[in-house]
Amino acid sequence: MKGLRIGSGFDIHMLVPGGPLMLGCVAIPVEMHLKGHSDGDCAAHATADALLSAGLATDLGSVFPVSDVNRGISGCTILGKTRQLLDEAGFSIVNIDVSIICDRPALVDYMPAMGSAMAKCLGITDNAITVKARHTEGFIFRESSDGIIALAMVLVEKL
Ligand SMILES: [Zn+2]
Repeated sequence: MKGLRIGSGFDIHMLVPGGPLMLGCVAIPVEMHLKGHSDGDCAAHATADALLSAGLATDLGSVFPVSDVNRGISGCTILGKTRQLLDEAGFSIVNIDVSIICDRPALVDYMPAMGSAMAKCLGITDNAITVKARHTEGFIFRESSDGIIALAMVLVEKL
């Protein structure tokens, strides 16, 4: 079916000691990282989940299951493969909007770099993706159970 389709994606990973932090396909030099079977890049995962949902009516876990093949897979590789699947299904990416929700680390200096890095992995222009970050004001995360949430909204088009 031709036309526009939207998709939404969500992901959360636990923050654990030891850097660097892989987020939005950028290695952020802090002494913490996201725990996961992959590199834990929740921004890339939420984005891929939204794109797969919009274009292929599936989700991240179905396309990239927990398996030996996907152990340690980078967010960039996931985004590149997702773009390839969309291409094969005849979809182009119109735009992507990503929100990262956490109390630490401070991400303000990394938001443009994350947008550019994710755009490069997806093979789209920088202005087709927006990455922004919000704090939870201490309502969600605790020192004993800290993490990062990512939400993504995407628009794709089948010509
Ligand atoms: Zn994930």
